[in-house]
Amino acid sequence: MPSIDFSRFPRYDTLVAHLRDFAAERPRLVELRVIGQSHEKRDIYVVVITNSDTGPAHDKPAYWIDGNIHATELLASTACLYFIQTLLGGYSTDPDTTRCLDTRAFYICPRVNPDGAEWALAEHPRLVRSGTRRYPYDEEPVEGLITQDIDGDGRILQMRVADPNGPWKPHPLEPRLLVRRDPSDAPGGEYFRVLPEGLLNNYDGVHVPVPGLAGNAQGLDLNRNFPALWRQEFEQAGAGPYPTSEPEVRAIVEFFVSHPNICGGTSLHTFSGALLRPLGSQPDDQMIPEDLWTFRAQGRKGEELTGYPAISVWHDFQYYPNQFISGSFDWIYEHLGRFTWTVELWNPKQAAGIDNNEWIHWFRDHRVSDDLKMYTWAQQVAPGEGYVDWRPFAHPQLGPVEIGGWQRTAIFSNPPPQLREQEIARLPKWLLWLNLIGPKLELRELNVVALGGDSWRVRLVVQNSGWLPSYVSKMGLKRKQTRGVLAEIALPAGARLLVGKPREELGELEGWAHLHTGISFWPNNRPTADLAYAEWVIEARAGTEIGMVSWHERAGRIATRATLVDRLPDGQL
Ligand SMILES: [Zn+2]
Repeated sequence: MPSIDFSRFPRYDTLVAHLRDFAAERPRLVELRVIGQSHEKRDIYVVVITNSDTGPAHDKPAYWIDGNIHATELLASTACLYFIQTLLGGYSTDPDTTRCLDTRAFYICPRVNPDGAEWALAEHPRLVRSGTRRYPYDEEPVEGLITQDIDGDGRILQMRVADPNGPWKPHPLEPRLLVRRDPSDAPGGEYFRVLPEGLLNNYDGVHVPVPGLAGNAQGLDLNRNFPALWRQEFEQAGAGPYPTSEPEVRAIVEFFVSHPNICGGTSLHTFSGALLRPLGSQPDDQMIPEDLWTFRAQGRKGEELTGYPAISVWHDFQYYPNQFISGSFDWIYEHLGRFTWTVELWNPKQAAGIDNNEWIHWFRDHRVSDDLKMYTWAQQVAPGEGYVDWRPFAHPQLGPVEIGGWQRTAIFSNPPPQLREQEIARLPKWLLWLNLIGPKLELRELNVVALGGDSWRVRLVVQNSGWLPSYVSKMGLKRKQTRGVLAEIALPAGARLLVGKPREELGELEGWAHLHTGISFWPNNRPTADLAYAEWVIEARAGTEIGMVSWHERAGRIATRATLVDRLPDGQL
């Protein structure tokens, strides 16, 4: 197994080398695929993990995991590598991992957005929200501040300018830290204006506009470019000109469309330390109840295994009250009916010992004492990196400024190096569990009965051995995403089908996800809803071999053969 230092974020070439090492070390378990190319023509990799000795991935139910669609959320990428390593290490030593890779597959895309990550990891980084294509306009802005590393220290920080009308002042206990002025603070004190570190084009001497989502011309957010509830720029910033306009998103969408065996997916992000579930655009009482209950069951397990709370995007993670985010990876639930989670890895607030369970709104407003806690913690875990002391700098447009303050990418977007591995170690057990609960089509029984003469009755009984139903979610059922189980019989020359169709439709198979507790008074009217069978009567000579396949888009594919022999009175083969 390649040894990976999970405290370091790999640049693209190193990341790809790690993936190739995995495939070279465990060729029976790992296959690399390129699913598309980024805007800057970097290959986007998916790592396919399954035991190929028990069948190819596309014949098995599968689970999708991706990371790093947002440029600076590099821990997400590392979490994918860590998960791959955990799976490979666990195969044949851990029973759940072994069973999972024998019966199911993972599709893992460790770096959806290699361009944005490469910019973030450069010696002189450029920070963008997501993709590196200029958007919405294909020119560099002619005015305003472009965020960049201007003092050449490899970091993008903040600039402060002394200004008697500035809204910031030194923290009463720690003067290096800036906090907001009190509402009634008299003008003319020791105040500052704070700007992102960067250079100005055509500065008019008064205004400093800051363009885009991250202070630059690259205003895309690839996680707003998916088809479900996609909205134009005026309603949803960063959405792109049309759904899947961006090659990174199109690659994922095409992969899902061509891989109907994917039963669910988790997209890894930073930060907050939370497991986020749909819906993003409506409250829970608008959800299909069975799907909500399934999401809650998945969330409870996630809380137990990861330590992160499971929350609803609509109820707990809105950036602005009643304004929802759309066009995200939740597409896989909203259109395709696959259960999806967005994991926001890493909670710096909790790490700093701040007792507060608000998500987004803590950033907008919190106690001044929380700032000091955050600062003190940052000085312990990332001295001089999390919060950088202010240093004078002669700015070419603004004159004398100071550069310093929070380095967001060092402690907020991602944990400091020594805390990374313990953070990503939270995930593997839950991700494995999310795959193991999926539907799984299995052969239960195959019967051949001699009816006399050259006639035979063949019965193929199949079952869903998974917890989830074959259709996965009620949303998938509602949107007619699956056709149910199909079973085909293949007859050699000289054999003839007397009763039955060459392709039988067997319907959907339940799991036990919707089963009530033993105490429930509600009757279970379909106690065998996990079973189905196809039956054919054929005319063929004794000794003829026939083939049968049965499959379900999500639950997998099984193939079997039978020889027509009249040897057992009960017809059992
Ligand atoms: Zn993100």
